[in-house]
Amino acid sequence: MKTYDLVVIGSGTAAQVASTRVRRTGRTVAMVDHRPFGGTCALRGCDPKKMLISGVEAIAAAHRMQGHGVAGELRISWPELIAFKRTVGPPLTPVSGHDRQKPDYRGVPSVAFTVPPIASVGLKESQAQQQGLKFKVKSENTPNWYTARRLAERVYGYKTLVEEGTGQILGAHIVGPQADEIINLFALAIRHNLTAKDLQTTMFSYPTGASDIGYMV
Ligand SMILES: Cc1cc2nc3c(=O)[nH]c(=O)nc-3n(C[C@H](O)[C@H](O)[C@H](O)COP(=O)(O)OP(=O)(O)OC[C@H]3O[C@@H](n4cnc5c(N)ncnc54)[C@H](O)[C@@H]3O)c2cc1C
Repeated sequence: MKTYDLVVIGSGTAAQVASTRVRRTGRTVAMVDHRPFGGTCALRGCDPKKMLISGVEAIAAAHRMQGHGVAGELRISWPELIAFKRTVGPPLTPVSGHDRQKPDYRGVPSVAFTVPPIASVGLKESQAQQQGLKFKVKSENTPNWYTARRLAERVYGYKTLVEEGTGQILGAHIVGPQADEIINLFALAIRHNLTAKDLQTTMFSYPTGASDIGYMV
């Protein structure tokens, strides 16, 4: 019977990172998967799925701008969209592929790529309360902000948690245009202990979603 130094169950990103490192040391690895090789990211999630949402975003943008300078209907061509999806290279999942001795889970953002996207990083209000932290909550419905108005987007809002005393960002939760990018700046702030003042005094290019950050904290 053939033997291996390591047997990895699953062939997804995590399994690939572990097995590659062990293989580099000259040891033998067997990978076992009860589904097709590659795991969720390569076969069902991550980059392949995000190629599909580009079509939906284009249609949604055109619908929003109907009557505001855009006329005519767009439609999805499914065969063309699938062909476009298949042009994607090897998919990468930045979170599961991070390769560290000890994982650092501070400031890991998550996004639901809806239209518009919903994004979150750090603590929820209930979690901050459970941890006994003292913090200020700022929360607003902001479809009247220019970021949303120029796209004729009616959904835009946020909630942020800032620690009292230190001014550090504890959490940020956003729904609206460019939330998927804005959240990365909050992730940076959380991981590197930036304060609300740091964000308020940073010059971001205008008009971008980032230029709203100073008003969110
Ligand atoms: C729709 C979707 C979109 C996503 N988009 C992103 C994204 O854009 N960015 C991002 O960072 N992450 C994204 N993710 C998350 C990302 O796919 C996961 O973080 C990543 O796949 C986790 O890797 P993993 O190796 O831990 O698990 P998986 O990739 O899920 O691999 C686990 C493997 O183990 C196998 N397995 C399980 N149990 C057994 C068993 N008992 N015996 C044999 N085989 C077994 C499974 O068949 C599977 O192939 C997305 C996920 C989904 C579902």
